[in-house]
Amino acid sequence: MTTHLPATTGRQLGRRSWAEPWKIKMVEPLRVTTPAERAHALAEAGYNTFLLRSEDVYIDLLTDSGTSAMSDRQWAGLLLGDEAYAGSRNFYALEEAVRDTYGYRHVLPVHQGRGAEHLISQIAIRSGQFVPSNMYFTTTRLHQERAGGVFVDVIIDEAHDPQSEHPFKGDVDISKLESLITRAGADQIAYISLAGTVNMAGGQPVSMACVRALRELCDQYRIRLFLDATRMVENAFFIQEREEGYADKTIAAILREFCSLTDGAWMSAKKDSLVNIGGWLALNDADLFEEARNLVVVFEGLHTYGGLAGRDMEAMAIGITESVQQDHIRARIGQVRYLGDLLTAADVPVVRPVGGHAIFLDARRFYPHLTQDEFPAQTLAAELYLDSGVRAMERGIVSAGRDPKTGDHHHPKLELTRLAIPRRVYTQAHMDIVAEAVEAIYAQRDSAKGLIMTYEPRYLRFFQARFDRP
Ligand SMILES: *Cc1c(COP(=O)(O)O)cnc(C)c1O
Repeated sequence: MTTHLPATTGRQLGRRSWAEPWKIKMVEPLRVTTPAERAHALAEAGYNTFLLRSEDVYIDLLTDSGTSAMSDRQWAGLLLGDEAYAGSRNFYALEEAVRDTYGYRHVLPVHQGRGAEHLISQIAIRSGQFVPSNMYFTTTRLHQERAGGVFVDVIIDEAHDPQSEHPFKGDVDISKLESLITRAGADQIAYISLAGTVNMAGGQPVSMACVRALRELCDQYRIRLFLDATRMVENAFFIQEREEGYADKTIAAILREFCSLTDGAWMSAKKDSLVNIGGWLALNDADLFEEARNLVVVFEGLHTYGGLAGRDMEAMAIGITESVQQDHIRARIGQVRYLGDLLTAADVPVVRPVGGHAIFLDARRFYPHLTQDEFPAQTLAAELYLDSGVRAMERGIVSAGRDPKTGDHHHPKLELTRLAIPRRVYTQAHMDIVAEAVEAIYAQRDSAKGLIMTYEPRYLRFFQARFDRP
């Protein structure tokens, strides 16, 4: 494996640089607020960007989840909604799209990713079993823990180092995993929970070599391997770009190969699949699927709609096929990289290499005078909003939450502020504005004060916690 990153993917397309493979048909006006309005709005929101009203936001980089722009074909698909309670034709279109694109046998729609995480956790984890994973994701870990699972991080050490240029920082450390298996016994491992790409590490990909090694290990110990496929298309792009032997393969072929090495997957279609709502759970094992199909009626709805309208399933089916187009994914990651390059050139500390869906500002290096208990990443998101109306979110100690056993804060090595880029929504000029805003608060970094938490909800506290200035 090479540790040097090729600068361009031009080889596949024969073009010098990327451009958006679409033109704009409808626009939504943006509102620019005054500094006084922003100060008022942020104080009302308890210094938590999740509690702002979107009308008070100028450029919204809170998340890339459900915020992407649908194509004209997807909008047309909404009119083909078959709103039958049972057996909607849109379900069969979705089932076919997931089977064709991801390759799994049995497919269950759910209202969004965490609906699928809930189901898989309930049916595949016995209380006290370990769930090894390549770092954690907030909702994934919570559902695993609520099912009695004990989360274990087995990602490679480089993932915790924001300056490491390792090309596959999402990889599992196979020796960490194997030592857990031999220590605990294979029977005590519920399944391997593999995410591609790893959001909390900065959108970092998993290599094909890694998933192949995991497959071997899982076969050897008879352990199941499940994939969080939420951003797997972006992961496939990085494999095409960085891993030997994949430069001439299509995104669709790489995705299929990767998924074929796993036993099933859950999906938040609000990310890669370019829809505003939706997700699925897919499994190859018929018996396990039978259990999931039974449980889905308790929490989501009948197994042919899973909490979605027929039209939403149609838009998702179309979005899945659009998501694996080379032009699309290249422009998507190209835009993220464009912002990353601007900030890197301005010496702003960001997680390297730039990942698939977002730029992650390294709040530890941004505000070295603040301790982690003063919430530097939350502070950074607040300062950015105050300066410019750009909305980001915290990915550090607040997101990491507390240890369910001891009740203490988790203290993650990474203390990051995420600028997530919605797909097909903003232009390059918006990225210029964002870079200027980040550079402006970086220039004033010494005067930042930190925050204190005044309200802490029990679950997924980053969504609803409130803060104040000391
Ligand atoms: C968003 C996300 C989820 C949860 O999906 P929702 O649709 O928000 O419920 C799970 N895993 C990853 C990696 C995600 O990014």
